[in-house]
Amino acid sequence: MSIVELARPEIQALRPYSAAEQVDDTVRLNANEAPESSDAGRFRRPLNRYPEVRPTRLQRELAARFGCAQDELLVTRGSSEAIDLIIRTFCRAGVDNIVTHAPSFSMYRHYADVQGASVTEVQTRGEQDFRIDVDALLAACGSTTRLIFVCSPNNPTGTTLPVADLEKLLRGRSESSVVVVDEAYIEFAGVPSVAHMLERHSNLLVLRTLSKALGFAGARCGAVIGPAAVVSMLNAVQAPYALATPVVECVEDALGNAEAAAASVDRIVDERERLRRRFSDFEVITRVWPSAANFLLVRFKDAGAVMRHCESRKILLRHFGGDLGDCIRISIGSPGENDRLLQALEAFAEKASG
Ligand code: PMP
Repeated sequence: MSIVELARPEIQALRPYSAAEQVDDTVRLNANEAPESSDAGRFRRPLNRYPEVRPTRLQRELAARFGCAQDELLVTRGSSEAIDLIIRTFCRAGVDNIVTHAPSFSMYRHYADVQGASVTEVQTRGEQDFRIDVDALLAACGSTTRLIFVCSPNNPTGTTLPVADLEKLLRGRSESSVVVVDEAYIEFAGVPSVAHMLERHSNLLVLRTLSKALGFAGARCGAVIGPAAVVSMLNAVQAPYALATPVVECVEDALGNAEAAAASVDRIVDERERLRRRFSDFEVITRVWPSAANFLLVRFKDAGAVMRHCESRKILLRHFGGDLGDCIRISIGSPGENDRLLQALEAFAEKASG
């Protein structure tokens, strides 16, 4: 069976929105646009005009950067939008199912809830370094499991899925589910993207984002990479003109500065390891898990008290509760920000011991 046939029947039949033609050097009276804009001139493309239906140059540049063909990539408003598009494309409300591992990124469940798809979570455990068990993921799949979300490196545990395990998952569900690998943090992992596995696996989708390593969270830009036939369905579901002209232009400009982005990743990884070493000095910390991302998951003797103490010093950390009730996820900041955190923890430790 072609992977396209796993999509909702009405989406398989859907054609992309037919937008007004955009041709340079023409009198454009076909799109109910204004003839001028007070902001014309601020951007390379005048703002009184709609952006391109799809940002073709950006798509070409991101495809080159992420190692796929242009028709294997759709530019999205952050990878969050890609998660939503994939779920709406493949899951029938009230019928279809998504399998994922937990704890992980909460947006998979959020968009599953929006679409009315059920979610089956396979728990991972801190005592096993939150290892993702693909046999358990496979066992959790049923006849209506359309999607399997794997987050690697995983938010909030920092765990990566070995390629051999992904291979097994893809093979185990080759005809029956799409495996979505969310690589939001891949640049911090020092391992290559799994996008090259598309050559051998037609049931793979890979999510990338410019929000983390590139430092462009405010621009809302990401991408989904997959077989051209699947990307074409996602394209039909995505809103026309999804990416605004200012966003497209500022991301195009930023992509020219790949060296700066790589240097910033190196600095964050160095800082991550510096913090990990320093954390081993604190008695109030009982465990720091290995992380391939731009954060550390840290277990405290009293996570609630650490949160309150840091908040009182105007430092925000992330505390999830539930199974991770004694853990805090700490994003790696600038060296100065990390020093402020260390000072706050020192003061906390002193108070706790005194
Ligand atoms: N995937 C993961 C694992 C994330 O942690 C995040 C953001 N925290 C996203 C996707 C979404 O990122 P964005 O929409 O900014 O691309």
